[in-house]
Amino acid sequence: MSICDGFVGAIGQTPLIRLPRLSEETGCEILGKAEFMNPGGSVKDRAALAIVQAAERSGALRPGGTVVEGTAGNTGIGLAHICNARGYRCVIVIPETQSAEKIDLLRTLGAEVHTVPAAPYRDPGNYQRVAARMADGMENAIWAGQFDNTANRRGHYATTGAEIWQQTGGRVDAFIAATGTGGTLAGVSRALKERSGAVRAYLADPPGSALYHYVHRGEPAATAGNSITEGIGSSRVTANLQDTDIDDAFCIPDTESVPMVYRLLREEGLFLGSSSGVNVCGALRAARALGPGHTVVTVLCDGGGRYYARLFNPEWLAERGLA
Ligand code: PMP
Repeated sequence: MSICDGFVGAIGQTPLIRLPRLSEETGCEILGKAEFMNPGGSVKDRAALAIVQAAERSGALRPGGTVVEGTAGNTGIGLAHICNARGYRCVIVIPETQSAEKIDLLRTLGAEVHTVPAAPYRDPGNYQRVAARMADGMENAIWAGQFDNTANRRGHYATTGAEIWQQTGGRVDAFIAATGTGGTLAGVSRALKERSGAVRAYLADPPGSALYHYVHRGEPAATAGNSITEGIGSSRVTANLQDTDIDDAFCIPDTESVPMVYRLLREEGLFLGSSSGVNVCGALRAARALGPGHTVVTVLCDGGGRYYARLFNPEWLAERGLA
């Protein structure tokens, strides 16, 4: 059975890729779930589909309806494709600080894109709050609400987590991921821990995010510094992340994750975005903490092609001391 039904049918069932160099270096099996191979190019295709399907099932979204979302990029890309394939209108609100490639791609895909100034979550001008208000004023429309809509983590529980268990034959000791909405980490860790209580779940967090301290102290509080990574890190505990059993957290600085993105390209042959660098650095830290002989799974979230202007621009990196 190798034919899948349309764009939506092609989401998921991604390969689990062993990273040979990094595995040899640690004596562990370091495995990356190849989410960049989803048809919309990222892990967020899964969340977008899970949210749309849940809204269709509940009757909130009917034929010809509109999907509105505030998104830093990848969820919007997934939604735009799914909306085209399903006959919905797609409206995206995005902070203007996001990369031009992502904004251009969304428009090319046919989404109606509104850029707004970057504002903190508590501000009514925050992109997610603007998106929620827009959907509220429309007929037959949903606000996808990926951060607090737990259809997101349920999608990862049912698909990503189940696939990792099946692909490893249950031989998995740890799962680690950076979070944006928390859907991936929450859904996958639940699915794995339910099958074996011995599986550990770890968070990889970029500097400036509040979740490293949340895992260690129980209260979110920003770590020092900042990060050029996109789509990850959070100032708050989302409904998706809430009540997730996380065993430990690692804070991964850009001086570690950016060189890893280049190692993945030059040594492993994988052209990936910045969050994948954070995730693989996290997997190495987890492997060192566990010791040789363990299997550590992480997520290769999206491809490098979305980051030419920054991560793959040597001058831009040099200006930030990351060349
Ligand atoms: N990496 C990238 C590139 C992303 O766009 C996102 C989602 N914003 C994540 C990682 C984190 O995934 P999640 O929202 O499931 O926590």
